[in-house]
Parts: sequence; C-alpha cells; structure tokens
Amino acid sequence: MSSSLPATPPPSPGTVLTLQQRRLQQILWAVMAAFGTAALMSFSKGGYTSVALELVALALLGLAYRWNQRGELARASQWMLATLIAGIFGLMAAGEGLYDEGTLAFPAILIFAGMFGSRRMLWVLMAWLQGALVLLFVLHQTGVIRAASAPVDLQRLVMMVAILAAIGFFVWLLTGDLHSTLAQLASEKEALAESHQRIDVLAHRDTLTQLPNRTLAKDRLELLLLQARRDQRMVAALYLDLDNFKTVNDSLGHAVGDELLCLVAERLGSGLRDGDTVARLSGDEFLILLGNVHSEEAVAASARQVLQLLARPFPLQGLDVVVTTSLGIAVAPRDGSDVDELLKNADLAMYRAKDSGRNAFRFFDASMNENVVEHLHMASGLRTALAHGELQVHYQPQFDLHSGRIIGAEALVRWKHPTLGFVPPGKFIPVAERTGLINEVGTWVLHRACLDAQAWRQQGLGALTVAVNVSPLQFHRDNIEREVANALAACQLPADALELELTESLLVADAHHLSEVLQRLRAQGVQIAIDDFGTGYSNLAYLQRFAVHRLKIDQSFVRRMGSSTHDEGIVRAIIEMAHCLGLQVVAEGVEDAATLHRLQGFGCEFGQGFHWSPALPAEGFCALVRNHQDSAA
Ligand code: C2E
Ligand code: MG
Ligand code: MG
Repeated sequence: MSSSLPATPPPSPGTVLTLQQRRLQQILWAVMAAFGTAALMSFSKGGYTSVALELVALALLGLAYRWNQRGELARASQWMLATLIAGIFGLMAAGEGLYDEGTLAFPAILIFAGMFGSRRMLWVLMAWLQGALVLLFVLHQTGVIRAASAPVDLQRLVMMVAILAAIGFFVWLLTGDLHSTLAQLASEKEALAESHQRIDVLAHRDTLTQLPNRTLAKDRLELLLLQARRDQRMVAALYLDLDNFKTVNDSLGHAVGDELLCLVAERLGSGLRDGDTVARLSGDEFLILLGNVHSEEAVAASARQVLQLLARPFPLQGLDVVVTTSLGIAVAPRDGSDVDELLKNADLAMYRAKDSGRNAFRFFDASMNENVVEHLHMASGLRTALAHGELQVHYQPQFDLHSGRIIGAEALVRWKHPTLGFVPPGKFIPVAERTGLINEVGTWVLHRACLDAQAWRQQGLGALTVAVNVSPLQFHRDNIEREVANALAACQLPADALELELTESLLVADAHHLSEVLQRLRAQGVQIAIDDFGTGYSNLAYLQRFAVHRLKIDQSFVRRMGSSTHDEGIVRAIIEMAHCLGLQVVAEGVEDAATLHRLQGFGCEFGQGFHWSPALPAEGFCALVRNHQDSAA
C-alpha cells in the first residue's frame, strides 16, 4: 500500500537561516529575562556586585541581540556564549561557587553551542566549562569563595566534571545528527532548485539557440499586450520563416543547418531594441515581438531591417550561403487582441509573403483568412487532381531568335479544377510545395513532358527539346537523377532532348550537394537551365561552379526593356556575362517585335513569350509547330 501522507516541502536555505535567527532571538529574550530577574533578586538581597555583573551581562546580551537582528548570526551567538560563560562564572565566583545555581545553566550552554556553533566550538566550550569548574574548586580551596554553604571536596568536583562531560557527549551526538540532517536537507533543496532551474530552461528556452521558445514567447506577448492596452500603444508580432532552410539542411547536413539557425538567432538578437523579443518557434520559424510601437511605419522599418540583416551571406563550411526570409506581420489591437489570434494571423501573413515571391514582408489583412479556406480546399483538391486526371501539361514554344525556328517548348503544368476552372500554377505550385505534393506533381509532369516530346519526334516534328520546371524540393530527395533516367528510358527520349529548369535560389543555398547532382545529370546528357535569372542572388562564382547550359532571363526585365533603360541594361549585361561564361540565353516574356529586335541585337539566342504564343495544350502546340514549319518551307 502506498503512503498517502502529503509530502512536506523541505525548508529553503533562506528559511533555515531566518528560523535560526528567530530561535536565537527567542533564546536571547529568555536569557536576558533570566539575568534581569537575577539582577532584581540580587538587588533585593543587597548583592550589589552581582547586580553590577548582571547588568553588564544584560548590556552585552543586548549587543548580541542587535547583531542577530542585522543577520550576523555567528557573531551574535558567539558573543552571547562568551557573555553567558563570563557572566555565569562571575556570578558563581561572587556567589556560592560550585554550589551556585549557575551550574544549572551549563548544559543549556552546551546545547546552545551544539546548535548554533561549530563542532570544534562545542569542545572548546566544554573545555572552558570544565576549566571554570576547576577554577571555582580552586577558589573554594583557597578561601576566595566564602559564601558557600558547605566546603567542597575533590570528589564533588570530579562528579560535576564527569556529568558535564557526559552531557557534552550527548549534545555532541544529537546536534551532530541534527546538523547532518539539516545539511542533507539544504543540499537536497539546492539540487531541487537546480533541477527546477533546468526544467525552467527546458520549458522556456530553445535548446539549440537558447532563444525563448514558443511558450515563453507567448507569455511575453501576453505581457506586451497588457502593457500596450494600458499605454494605448501597438504590439507587432513578426513571424519569420527562412525560405530555403530545408535546402541548406538537406544538402549541407543537419549540423550546418543548426549552425545556420544559431547564426540567424545571433543576427536577429543583435538587431533588436531592448525590450523586444526574438524567439524560435520551431525548425526555421522565428518570432519577433515589438512592444510599445507607435506606428505601422515603424513596424515596416523594423521588418525591412530584419530582411537586410539576414540578406548578408552566412559563412558556412567555407561557402557564403545566402538565405532569404519571408516575414508575416500582425499588429495588435487591429489584427487581434489575444496571443493566439495574433500569432495565427502573423503566420498567415508570412505564408502570403512566401506566395508573393519570398524575401518579403506582408502585413496581415482580413482577406487572408478567406484565402486559408481556399488553400485548404486546394490542398485536398490537389491530392485527388492527379488521380482524377485533372492536371495537364501545356507547352509554350521556344524560338531560335536568329533562324526563327521553333527549337522546343517549356512544359507548364495546368490544373483544370472541376468547379474552379483553370487554376494557375502560381496558385497551386506553392500549395503543392507546402504539402509535399510537389514531388508527385513534378514526377508526373516530367513523365508527361517526356512522353509528349517523344510523340513529337514520332510525328515528324523534328528534334524538339522540352524544358521541365523542377521545384527545389524535388532536389532535396536523392532520387531526382533516378526519376529523370526512368522518365527518359520509359519514353525512349534522348537525354539531350530534356532540359531541367532550376530556380536561382537553389544554386545559392544548395551549393555543395547540388553541384554533384548537376554534374551527374549533365553526364547523363540532360541540359540544365537557370530559370527566372536576375531575381535571386546568384553570382558569377555560383554559375561557374555548376554544370549549367543556359540562363533564362526573368520575364520582368524583358517585359520592361522597352520602357526602362535600366532593365534593358540589366538584360544586356546578363547576356554578355552569360556569353563570357559560355552559356546560352533564353529571354522569357517576349511580348512584342520591338523587344525581339533588341534581344536579337544583344545576341540573345532564344526566346519565348506571348509575342509568339502562350502555353498551349499538346495538340495545339503540335499544330503550331506544323504551321510554322509549313510557312517557313
Ligand atoms: P516560369 O517557369 O518562369 O514560366 C513562365 C511563366 O511565364 C509561365 O506562367 C508562362 O505562361 C508565363 N509567360 C510566358 N510568356 C509570357 C509573356 O510573354 N508574358 C507574360 N506576362 N507571361 C508569360 P505560368 O504557366 O503561369 O507558370 C508560372 C510558374 O509556375 C512558372 O514560371 C514556374 O515557375 C511554375 N511552374 C509551372 N509549371 C510547373 C511545373 O510543372 N513544375 C514546377 N515546379 N513549377 C511549375
Ligand atoms: Mg520555367
Ligand atoms: Mg521563368
């Protein structure tokens, strides 16, 4: 049967000390009362020497009382003992010597010393008391003490010394046990306090970065909200997610991923004002809490500062790794007045920042909640889309800008939703990436594109190439090479008819692992293109390191060429730089003849865009190629 007695918590070292002080105070009161009574009695008997002695002892005990109140326990207790021994000895000498009632106080003195003093002190005191007895005996023998009622003999002295020694021994044993129990209690208490502290750290701190964790962050946010309500100020919650952390983690290893998280934590911490909080919520998600904010502009300025702080490359394993960040911001009281609502809305805004092209911040707005519902529908719908054949691949022709011939097409996935109609890839690809479905979608698109490209060859359309977009997440899985080889083999398509389009951010973060994978894909004969070039952070060093064939200039620059000399300059510089590195260039988003002519003038090799055609279903693309070939013939 288990005991049902409630456990009594051990006293803390702090309370043990105050308890001792309290006890000493009580003892001092009692001793002073005894001396006071003795003084009154002596006065009534006319023993003025005794009165004087007792008053001096009272004054000295008063001093001990003062020290004890100030917390000087050791000093007070030693002083009290010395006063007691001297006082009692003096009174005994002035009174009846060994017959005096003062001897009754000896055991009490020993107990007191055992409790409040050290073990050594107990023995020293023992020796003093024994010495005092011997001295009193001598004073008797020499006739100095005359007031004694009877003469003393040696036997009496020996008996008294022996009794005192026995009492001293008991006190020594008992107080020894008491001390060791108290010491054990104190050390258990200390261990308990330490483990409480450790539990507290585990419960409130992230073990990797030592930043506050979600629990502590929520507590702090609660507090900030209370203060803000009182001071009529705003509180901002900035939900931060590293865009390409998974790529770093998977390619450079988890230890490097951890290192990156610590560096991010350090940078975030260094850029904050006192009173702001940065916490790690999970994986690559951080939360920044800004209290006492007076305007949204101030929050936006802080968000910009955070993006800049993290935009500087992180030195990891001899590489300068660039990570981009998406920030979602919710501001109280506008976007929610309680912790959970505010965090949920900041999280939503963060996803919106990601969807809008990453490396950006977004403030929450109420329409985002409606989008969540849409997102959930989309995520579950996408799962069945593949099985129900709702996905299609359309092909946008790519042209040789010099000969004007169609050299191939970019495969662009389309989702024909039974109720929503055509859902653009810009909407469902991010959902597929977030839910992990991108791997299945990507594999399906790869097979479909290879099948169609092979069909074009069989239909006599010539050696057309097909470019397939590959999400960074597909590269995190180690089987991308196998999937490519399988697709090519299953469709019997030559490897050089397939081009894989990678995003620029992948190059930057995935340097080590990616370079090897690309080398092996290139060895298979597959072509590699960098998509949307100019929007990320890749530089010459990155391009040189990778086995890349082509750069695709992002359509935003190409489309603005006609209206902005700045963008035209960028396009020209990219083309020249690519040529220096022996790379070909594809211009995306060519919408008019004027742009086409400029590109031709700059020596750009290939182009695609609405100037020729949007992406078409496979049959439409075949018809376009045939028409084109017929008109060229
Ligand atoms: P992207 O790879 O840069 O594809 C080019 C996008 O530009 C396509 O949009 C295309 O329709 C559009 N476009 C082409 N010419 C013009 C033009 O002259 N003017 C304008 N304004 N736009 C033009 P789409 O099909 O909506 O695809 C958007 C993005 O979705 C693609 O950008 C690509 O990143 C992604 N995506 C499409 N299919 C796949 C896929 O199968 N897998 C993966 N991972 N991503 C895909
Ligand atoms: Mg593309
Ligand atoms: Mg593109």
